[in-house]
Formats: sequence, C-alpha cells, structure tokens
Amino acid sequence: MRKAIFAPVNPITIAIDGFSSCGKSTLAKQLAAHLGYTYIDSGAMYRAVALHVMEQGLAPGGVLDRPALLAALDGIRIRFEHDPLSGHSATWLNGRNVEHEIRSMAVSQHVTLVSPVPEVRAKLVRLQQDMGRAKGVVMDGRDIGTVVFPDAEVKLFMTARPEVRALRRYHELKQKGQEVDLAAVQANIAQRDLDDTTRAADPLRKAADAIEIDNSDITAEEQFQRALDAVLGKLAAVGYE
Ligand code: C5P
Repeated sequence: MRKAIFAPVNPITIAIDGFSSCGKSTLAKQLAAHLGYTYIDSGAMYRAVALHVMEQGLAPGGVLDRPALLAALDGIRIRFEHDPLSGHSATWLNGRNVEHEIRSMAVSQHVTLVSPVPEVRAKLVRLQQDMGRAKGVVMDGRDIGTVVFPDAEVKLFMTARPEVRALRRYHELKQKGQEVDLAAVQANIAQRDLDDTTRAADPLRKAADAIEIDNSDITAEEQFQRALDAVLGKLAAVGYE
C-alpha cells in the first residue's frame, strides 16, 4: 500500500491513566504540545460534576443525594474552551468557566462521591469518546485505556510513591495560593486511590497493554523522553515516522 505523503495528523490516540497526583496532566500536556495533539483532562469533567453537586446542595452533610443527581444529570453541560488569558484549555460548566474552582480541595473531597455513579460515567465517557473520535488526542484519567479508548495505540500507566505524590500536590496547591495542610492532602490522595481502585464501575486499573512509568525518582524530562519514545515507536510502526 502506498504511504500517504501529506499526513495532516498522526492518527493515534494516547491514553494516560494512573493514580491521583501522579503527574499525568503534566506529561499529557507535554506530549500534546510536542505532537500538536489535543489534550483532554477527563478528571476535570468529574470535578465539574462534583462542583455542580456541591453548589446545588446535592450532597448534604457529604452524603450524595443520588436520585437528585440523576434528575439533574441531563442539565449538566460540560465543555472545554481555549482560555486566551492563560493560554490553556479551561473547563466550562453550564456556561461558566470553572477551571479554577474545580481544583480546590473541597472539590477533590467530593469528586469520589460522583465518579462511582454509573450514569455519570456513561455520560462523561460518551462525551470523551466524541471528543477523541478524530484521534490526535492525549487524554488522561483513570479508565481511558480500559474503557474510553480500549483501542488507543499508546497507553501509559503512571504511578509514584504516595508520599511523593502528596508532596507534589501540596506544593501545586500552595503555588495556586490555596491554604492547604499536607496531612489533609495525603489523606485525600489515599482516599481517592482507594475509592478509584475499588469502585464497581470502571475502576482504575492498568490495561494489559499499558506501559507503566513510575516517576517517583525520575525527572519530568526523563519521564517525557520515556513516553515520547513509546509514542514515536508506535508512530513508526503504523507508518508515520
Ligand atoms: O485526574 P483528577 O485527579 O483530576 O480526577 C479527579 C477524580 O475524578 C478522580 O479521583 C476520579 O475519582 C475521577 N475520575 C474518574 N475517571 C476518569 C478521570 C477522573 O473516575 N477518567
């Protein structure tokens, strides 16, 4: 078969899964920028649903009112839009830019109330699949290589020791000007690890064909090189050197 001379995009999908605060989004953004792909943060979508639940009082006392969430679900509209101010993509919830709010500790503490709900997952997975239909995307999350894009050409699974992750997250939140306590960050990460790996619907697990990267003791640059090598190897294999 003749090889295309002008390939407008490299038609592969890159799925990045892993535990909370593993640096998935940093790597995903680096790869997307390098390859000219679109980066999609699937966790932001679950966070947006959690924010909606909090704002609408659908989790009184930290307990999810599930029938109320299901009734509200059709009216929750989530999209991403380029923010010219930050130069990055921003998450919009029902016509409002919520990019900053969804990164708060309060949202991190509510997100695993909504992420196990199968109806929430079905809605967001559908949206994610639509966004990635044309390929040329790097998407990070918990179930991207297993559920959203089981046929993704490159699957990465990221891990790091919990104490390393907690410290990174702590510094990240501090940098954003949030008042946080390291013990609270540690507890939240441990809770989300447990919730994400033990839920019945689409739990976090490594896809059989994923490449695992433990970044506890490597630099962001080394991690990027490792991931890029995997991507370039795959692109060469499908004829897009
Ligand atoms: O990636 P991030 O930490 O922002 O994700 C927030 C939460 O959203 C996770 O702890 C998880 O409960 C949920 N999530 C998910 N499936 C995804 C992405 C995120 O369940 N694909």
